[in-house]
Amino acid sequence: MIKVETPRAKYIFVTGGVTSSLGKGIAAASLGLLLKCRGLKVMMQKLDPYINVDPGTMNPYQHGEVYVLDDGSETDLDLGHYERFIGTDLGAVHNVTSGQVYHAVISRERRGDYLGATVQVIPHITNEIKSRIRAVADVEKDVDVVITEIGGTVGDIESQPFLEAIRQLGIEEGRGNVLFIHLTLVPYLEGTGELKTKPTQHSVKALREIGIQPDILLCRSPRPLSKDIKEKIALFCNVPSEAVIQDLNCESIYEVPLLFHTEMLDNLVVHHMNLWCKDLDLAKWETIVDKIKYPAKKVKIAICGKYIQLKDAYKSIMESFVHAGAENDARVELFWVSSEDIKKKGAEYHLKDVDGLLIPGGFGERGIEGKIEAIQFVREEKIPFLGICLGMQCATIEFARNVSGLEGANSTEFEPETEHPVIHLMEMQKKISDKGGTMRLGAYPCLLEKSTKSAEAYGILELSERHRHRYEFNNDYRKLFQEKGLVLAGLSPDGKLVEIIELKDHPWFVGVQFHPELKSRPDNAHPLFRDFIKACLEYQSVDSNSSIESTQNVDTIDK
Ligand code: GLN
Repeated sequence: MIKVETPRAKYIFVTGGVTSSLGKGIAAASLGLLLKCRGLKVMMQKLDPYINVDPGTMNPYQHGEVYVLDDGSETDLDLGHYERFIGTDLGAVHNVTSGQVYHAVISRERRGDYLGATVQVIPHITNEIKSRIRAVADVEKDVDVVITEIGGTVGDIESQPFLEAIRQLGIEEGRGNVLFIHLTLVPYLEGTGELKTKPTQHSVKALREIGIQPDILLCRSPRPLSKDIKEKIALFCNVPSEAVIQDLNCESIYEVPLLFHTEMLDNLVVHHMNLWCKDLDLAKWETIVDKIKYPAKKVKIAICGKYIQLKDAYKSIMESFVHAGAENDARVELFWVSSEDIKKKGAEYHLKDVDGLLIPGGFGERGIEGKIEAIQFVREEKIPFLGICLGMQCATIEFARNVSGLEGANSTEFEPETEHPVIHLMEMQKKISDKGGTMRLGAYPCLLEKSTKSAEAYGILELSERHRHRYEFNNDYRKLFQEKGLVLAGLSPDGKLVEIIELKDHPWFVGVQFHPELKSRPDNAHPLFRDFIKACLEYQSVDSNSSIESTQNVDTIDK
């Protein structure tokens, strides 16, 4: 069918009920993908109810990963799902927090812009929220649909202004132009052996009390919903039974769009909103899911980091491994090793059975020495290594101490008075004391050296990657390190910043100052992750000790 010009963008709101962590971000992103595959231009947005202006200053244990966008905004990890599913690079307008909204309104009040009015949640805060939702429709020309996910759970005090704002927007835009989707839980009770609809009924009741009648219910459930259950939910929640969609647990998050399509979600949405679009073609996505679910090989990668109890802190890294594994026809098994444990039992104990080591980004001194020990082990044993940001900095310190003879070399982040500050504060950061927004953030270009592992992986010599760091490679040590076998494989275009290091005498050892995991996509794995896994598979095939069965000694949090 030919796409007819839609007069203006339509809005879909995704709210959550009963409990957090039901996969609202994945659900919203999956719908985004389905609509995109129907030929619609989709934009996505997340509204976060917390007062922090952005998650940049929040502890990863509380919030999970900070997802950095090209424009340098530090955002919620759901933005990562959006980018990975709809394949569009997003920007600051796509993540709004209560902190930003209040900050804008209070700044305006201080300037006297409200001309003596009493500034209130309704209408001033809600107006600001509505204008930020509508702003997403204007990011590009001809946006057909804006999908806005509301963080938190219905009933939370914090998210009330957001819900009130979307209620108002629904009235202003008119029926057919706005759709409310509510994600709820339908739990299974082992004792009675049945699925329970009451939590969903209560959650929808809470939503209706504030004036929002959901149009579609996504019911997260461990078991399929029978026709009877769907009809019961429909009756009590005031929706047609075909609008009760089951959202079952899946092996891979990338299966969720396929599941929703089987439940006819995209059909329901386009009919409800009268969106003119083509039929769905999910063939490409189905191939990706197949490659993810049924690989022929296995590869074991250790991740040595500080926040290993909360995997959400490394969400994009984990997803990048899924993408890179699929492209190498391999399932990537991740072994989480606490950097502090390496200090206790030694690197060999933890790493002798793995096919590769990844050291992710991080901040602060804790666990640094364990990471350095782990890097020394894989450097000497010629096990493939990928170091990201802090991981690259630790690799530099290790090389300084153990190859270049600079005893006690360190980063000034961990030891301000170190004799050999091989990683130090960037000049532009030295005068800044305010923690929020003082980092080198967002996309920066990088030029690659020919005939390096990086150049081989990227297949190009000019690239752009996203950054989030304060410290950098100290150029005073360039010459010494190069003489000792370190390769400066990537530099900033002015040649002043070292962005990628490699080792001459190692099968695959790459450290990057940026975060490649933020640009990996299911249909386009990041070249460094892809080649890292390839190198790990090659290492596995030559290393006879590396059989999948001999993993008893590898301490892991989850196997
Ligand atoms: N803590 C280091 C810095 O600020 C590394 C940051 C990171 O890994 N994202 O430079």
